[in-house]
Amino acid sequence: MSATAINDAHCHFFSARFFAALAAQRAPSGSGTAADVCGELQWELPDTSEALADRWLAELDAHHVNRAALIASVPGDEESVAAAIARHPARFVGFFMLDPSAPDAPARATRAVAQLGLRGICLFPAMHQVPLDDERVRKVVEVAAANPGVAVFVHCGVLTVGVRRRLGLPSRFDLRLGDPRAVARLALAFPQVPFIIPHFGAGTLQDVLMAADVCPNLHVDTSSSNNWTRYTPGLTLQAVFGSALTVLGPGRLLFGTDSSCFPRGWLRGVYEDQKRIVDALGTSAADAARIFGGNFDALFTVPVKP
Ligand SMILES: [Zn+2]
Repeated sequence: MSATAINDAHCHFFSARFFAALAAQRAPSGSGTAADVCGELQWELPDTSEALADRWLAELDAHHVNRAALIASVPGDEESVAAAIARHPARFVGFFMLDPSAPDAPARATRAVAQLGLRGICLFPAMHQVPLDDERVRKVVEVAAANPGVAVFVHCGVLTVGVRRRLGLPSRFDLRLGDPRAVARLALAFPQVPFIIPHFGAGTLQDVLMAADVCPNLHVDTSSSNNWTRYTPGLTLQAVFGSALTVLGPGRLLFGTDSSCFPRGWLRGVYEDQKRIVDALGTSAADAARIFGGNFDALFTVPVKP
């Protein structure tokens, strides 16, 4: 791998089904179609999942990004991301949001990883209001444990969903439930399963560092603007990277952007900011290459052609 190869561990695959789900949530008060929602947001309405996959591929190529995790961002949308990875298996890794309170959650997770080839189960405990020590969550993590190469992504800390806010959809999330210490409890119970906490824990940095210190299978993604740093007076993203490198080392940080919609596309500014920060910290080229690409490839190996 060259020192400049970039992999993005955190992009959202906003499929037609995703927008249809948002439109349905807004009915009957708002206008009721995916096209209406996209028109209001001034975003492109995706056509088929295959077409959206090609749109993403062209975007990655334009920015010299090698691979990206694409997250199905509403429960029940596994098929959309599955279509994308089937089309470009060497370039995309499929993640999917799962609501562990759904009665079929373990069966759905099994099908997604064993049949559809997805590799990241994404839990949003604050959104779905299921505590991480709940048996229903354990059942889902057991699916990852039974399928090597599958990671569990757990959103912690502050949770805001920009698109919901812009559409006026209520977001009554329970912020107490996105607790990195509860992730640590699971990660210790399932040491063979890689866990990923996005956005350095989105406001829970100290707990993320503690959790990662005791759980070698806990990884952190660097995605988004990380504007949660404003909750701590004087905290800079450079200081966050510095602490994370000290505690986790360079092998457990996964670069990500949190890119999602078109025409905005891939968030190059996030990459440029974080690259500048990593360089300013005096990180070696080899360690920077791990953060910006190598660690992702190690967790999510490129599938070999049959
Ligand atoms: Zn995200």
